[in-house]
Amino acid sequence: METKPLFNDEFAGAPAKRVLAHLLKHKEKGDVIAGTYCGYAPLEVFRAMGIVPAVLCAFANNTVAAGEAVLPSNLCPLIKSSMGFIETDTCPFFSISQAVIAETTCDGKKKMFEFISERRPMYVMNLPHIPERKEAAAYWLGVVRDLKAFLESVFGKNAEDADLEAAIKDSNEKNRRVMRMFGYAALDAPALHWSEMLDTVFLATPLSGAEINGILDEKLDTLAERAAAGRRIGDPGAPRVLITGSPVAGDAVKVYKIIEDEGGVIVEIDSCVGTKPFRSGIKEVTGDPLAAIAERYLSIPCSCMTPNLRRMEELSARIEKTKPDVVIDVVLHACHSYNIESSRVEKHVREKHGIRFLKIVTDYAPGDAGQLKTRIGAALEMAKQEMS
Ligand code: SF4
Ligand code: SF4
Repeated sequence: METKPLFNDEFAGAPAKRVLAHLLKHKEKGDVIAGTYCGYAPLEVFRAMGIVPAVLCAFANNTVAAGEAVLPSNLCPLIKSSMGFIETDTCPFFSISQAVIAETTCDGKKKMFEFISERRPMYVMNLPHIPERKEAAAYWLGVVRDLKAFLESVFGKNAEDADLEAAIKDSNEKNRRVMRMFGYAALDAPALHWSEMLDTVFLATPLSGAEINGILDEKLDTLAERAAAGRRIGDPGAPRVLITGSPVAGDAVKVYKIIEDEGGVIVEIDSCVGTKPFRSGIKEVTGDPLAAIAERYLSIPCSCMTPNLRRMEELSARIEKTKPDVVIDVVLHACHSYNIESSRVEKHVREKHGIRFLKIVTDYAPGDAGQLKTRIGAALEMAKQEMS
């Protein structure tokens, strides 16, 4: 496999460091920074208003204990880690954020936001959880308009339709590049490593297209060269793995490391730290750009929605595109919605696609690594036998 990392040469360090430097530059210029936790935050509204988004910290095991000092311990690690970062004042992105934009995705997060709202101005976007209902679209558009009004009143910023249209175009151009990059993970000889997928997501989420497209173009050239040279990630014959489920990053990447150690190659990450935020464009219409933004965000197939049939449609599309041998559904401990939905995902994967399926429930702590290794190793071994 290609040993030179795709991003670290460019960014002289981890993507988080690069993103922080980018945010601090904006801060020095006097720009407003707003923190977010979730894929439902409509970043184009921020950007159209000249507000810079910062993705807040949520993926470290070492902040879970501090989170548990405030929250019940039987919550998902993402929530406890997020709270712990705030309690210990160790998230640099939160430190420089002047407001937090939150969403009512799940009960734990919703209630955690009450604590965070004591520290920063906060707008909680109230999601309609049955997005297909006809009243949901109009309601959600009202929420997006209200978010804009909140940002206007707190920061004295404004955005005209032309600004929103430009922000939509900017996102679409960036997202197309990101999806082209992810396409290299899905080649017959995969050329993009899972850690590079995560780096891409962490850089491309807070940065605008104008800020990152040039860099993405360079990385696309590097990937094209890699592919042309026949350099591949994983051994020939390695079972191809599609990841779906809860967002996985930080200490939860133990799962990805085990998949790799056990001989698998990750060809797709169908989650919010994967292709999910990048794969559907926003309609470039003149008239009501806010409505186009609202429509796109409401279509995100998160398990907080019911019945979330769109997840199965998008999962099918990703399976057809990336041709996995195994689908691994990673559910964070105590994430009830992804956990409950898993049996439906399993049925869909097995019956519609005839693909091996494995569900994993895990958290950020390293304690279950041995058990995960056994289960993942067995699933990949069986996949290999089926392939031969
Ligand atoms: S999985 Fe759902 S709750 Fe989590 S970031 Fe994505 S959209 Fe938000
Ligand atoms: S992983 Fe599940 S429980 Fe945790 S914050 Fe996301 S939706 Fe909520």
